[in-house]
Amino acid sequence: MNVQEAGLRITDERSEVLLNRGPSFQERTAAVATAAAADADEVDAKARFPKAAIDAARERKLLGAQIPVEFGGFGASIFDITEMCYTLGRACSSAAMIFAMHQTKVACLVRHGTGSKYHEALMRRVAAEQLLLASSTTEGNNGGNIRSSAAAVETNGTEISLVRNATVISYGAEADGIVTIARRSSDAASSDQVLLAITRENYTLERSLAWETLGMRGTCSAGFELKAKAPADQVFPEAYEKIHAQTMTPVAHLCWSSVWAGIAAASVDRAQRFLRKAARGAGGQMPPGAAHFTAAKMSLAKLRAIITANLDNYAAREHDERALSSLDFQSSINLLKVEASELAVQTVMSAMRACGLSGYRNDGEFTVGRLLRDVLSSPLMINNERILSNIATSSLMSGVPTSLRD
Ligand SMILES: Cc1cc2nc3c(=O)[nH]c(=O)nc-3n(C[C@H](O)[C@H](O)[C@H](O)COP(=O)(O)OP(=O)(O)OC[C@H]3O[C@@H](n4cnc5c(N)ncnc54)[C@H](O)[C@@H]3O)c2cc1C
Repeated sequence: MNVQEAGLRITDERSEVLLNRGPSFQERTAAVATAAAADADEVDAKARFPKAAIDAARERKLLGAQIPVEFGGFGASIFDITEMCYTLGRACSSAAMIFAMHQTKVACLVRHGTGSKYHEALMRRVAAEQLLLASSTTEGNNGGNIRSSAAAVETNGTEISLVRNATVISYGAEADGIVTIARRSSDAASSDQVLLAITRENYTLERSLAWETLGMRGTCSAGFELKAKAPADQVFPEAYEKIHAQTMTPVAHLCWSSVWAGIAAASVDRAQRFLRKAARGAGGQMPPGAAHFTAAKMSLAKLRAIITANLDNYAAREHDERALSSLDFQSSINLLKVEASELAVQTVMSAMRACGLSGYRNDGEFTVGRLLRDVLSSPLMINNERILSNIATSSLMSGVPTSLRD
């Protein structure tokens, strides 16, 4: 039995016991996906928060799915969560990306908050109140350079405060809490960072930038001045450097890639329906773009394969800090983001070309426009070139494999 099968089997057993013989994760996610799909076009057209989808996820307790059972959640695994991201990605890109970002923050809370009184209480709240957590890493013009912060935590006795020029916070206005990075103190180096969890009562947001974009319009990723005041124990006990390597990067890249694969799958689905209809209407004659459909299916297969390989890889090392920090693992999980985003764009482009004008149109049942606009965000969501240049030096230090599997 491989790691994934083992993971899924444990999850199946847990689902039965933990979900109280209620609906399975699959059934809950399907209900959320139905709500998300029904709202997706309007969410995109009006660049508005996908409230129906997030409300449906709350109702079905999926926002707290990863929280351990002892804190009131379902103890969902990374396999469960990425499957949810994929299913939601097929329905509404923005709702799926919001879900993925929230789950990444929850993963940090679960792994690095256990043992800390405040963070355990927050886990209980996420499960009981289905709190939605947003992420603040982007700051000023520093873009996706996450391992460097400008704003610093100021400590005054048992209180801390933080003022941050947060140029992008997806669903910042709708979230119940924010998980943010910051410099440890005003005299710390920019890379000496901490992670901090704050909820509504701890902060104010003043809008500084709008979110008028080509795609992913429903993520409502506006810019804000974030001002926070909170008890000092809301800072995670471990340094951000560790959290970044063990959880933030792997879980973000696995969840984002699963969302993009879902978007790609939705485009392949449209292309398939288009070709079937066109061929039926032409006495079995395939339309000229048919070869692009095969290309779309091929790149979707590659995309799913690299995600599942990386999922197995992560699950096998999940409890081994050294293995998670190794050069090989870090390169592989960073390259996953680069490869998955490029393959997702390629797949949607091929699906569009398979559909021809019917895919290019913004109306009609075979339009691929929204999916293409949404998926084009993937290479930019931490620029792929930034990631490639960051790992260029470390790649020189790791050996070239001498066998296919090891
Ligand atoms: C759909 C989506 C959702 C996102 N959600 C979040 C979120 O919830 N929280 C979050 O923190 N971030 C979020 N981001 C932002 C993301 O994390 C990266 O910060 C962003 O994609 C930029 O990445 P980059 O810096 O690698 O790439 P690039 O866009 O290529 O780099 C931008 C670089 O250009 C420079 N630059 C940019 N603007 C200026 C300017 N006006 N003047 C001078 N120089 C400038 C900066 O050096 C910056 O590093 C989101 C991005 C997307 C696409």
